[in-house]
Amino acid sequence: MAIRAILKPLSKRHLPLYATSVSRSASTLVLGEHENGLIKGQSVSAVDAAKCLSEDNPVSMLLAGSGPSLKEAAQHAASCHPSISQVLVADSDKFSYPIAEPWAKLVHMVQQRDGYSHIISASGSFGKNILPRAAALLDVSPITDVIEISGSSQFVRPIYAGNALCTVRYTGANPCMLTIRSTSFPVPPSSAASQSNEAPITQVDLSTLDEDSIGKSRYVKHTSQDAERPDLGSARIVVTGGRGLKSAENFRMIEKLAEKLGAAVGATRAAVDAGFVPNDLQVGQTGKIVAPELYIAFGVSGAIQHLAGMRDSKVIVAVNKDADAPIFQVADYGLVGDLFEVIPELLEKIPEKK
Ligand SMILES: Cc1cc2nc3c(=O)[nH]c(=O)nc-3n(C[C@H](O)[C@H](O)[C@H](O)COP(=O)(O)OP(=O)(O)OC[C@H]3O[C@@H](n4cnc5c(N)ncnc54)[C@H](O)[C@@H]3O)c2cc1C
Repeated sequence: MAIRAILKPLSKRHLPLYATSVSRSASTLVLGEHENGLIKGQSVSAVDAAKCLSEDNPVSMLLAGSGPSLKEAAQHAASCHPSISQVLVADSDKFSYPIAEPWAKLVHMVQQRDGYSHIISASGSFGKNILPRAAALLDVSPITDVIEISGSSQFVRPIYAGNALCTVRYTGANPCMLTIRSTSFPVPPSSAASQSNEAPITQVDLSTLDEDSIGKSRYVKHTSQDAERPDLGSARIVVTGGRGLKSAENFRMIEKLAEKLGAAVGATRAAVDAGFVPNDLQVGQTGKIVAPELYIAFGVSGAIQHLAGMRDSKVIVAVNKDADAPIFQVADYGLVGDLFEVIPELLEKIPEKK
């Protein structure tokens, strides 16, 4: 294994950190996720992370798909971040859906041709699905969930459900492959808007891509959450409910409160397992990682696996009837009380969102 690690204990809450030093000579391929003709914010964060690797680091964004939405996404990629120097577009029916096998072969093929020093993807289900497969094809060890980059080969990542930070040095062959936590590399709104020149868009020659690259998986269907609600991964406010809500019907109170606050809805794994809400709302080690400005938790005990997904939130508010619940150790504001009294009172007092 070509990775060396140094561990250090984590204080009560850690803040995202940025590159402390940068070295020269790198070139990075960022895997771009897109939907409805737009590059997802997480992929823009991956470009921001690439900036921390080296001062002189041309960044190419790789997009795959088919049809008009791919063209729109390529246009968006060309101007969504000033550090993008090239957009590579793989246009084929093979990529109509983001299935890991053809994507991994595409990454392998592009890497064999262009020889990037780094390949980065955001640590969402898109990247977590594709990057390890591509790393296996390229015979390198990926480094996952990076939260800090100190030069081109030294990275920090959380371990033990976020209770310790591990500094790893990559000593393997190129490419060094990373997934990054987008919450640790937030893109300032000015970055996205400040680009006056557009990066060139180049079509990837797919003639050498194996015909058998469809692999063993098959696209079945795509479900996405209510488009009216902010995306959980990037919302400014998240209202989360835990097992304390007791039923799916009671969980509606959380949804109503979120609507009033213009917030995204989150849930603990216990709430998901009990069937209160679908699992795409789960926050935590095996769910989504969030870092909103305000995180409000009702009936959540604060298990380490849950904290792993929300401890970087700027302000944490917890309501729990048990004064000893561990969630109060990370909360900035805590209220010991019954959520069945607190939430109706909040719903009554908070005005309707205009
Ligand atoms: C490998 C692994 C991965 C995991 N990944 C995740 C993950 O990604 N996300 C996650 O959330 N969990 C995860 N878990 C599960 C985790 O360990 C906890 O079991 C889970 O987070 C507990 O959810 P909870 O806080 O809703 O439930 P509980 O721990 O049962 O807590 C419910 C809380 O509600 C309070 N409460 C009850 N009634 C009221 C009331 N009327 N008013 C106010 N408060 C009330 C109680 O005091 C209690 O503190 C994982 C576990 C493992 C082993």
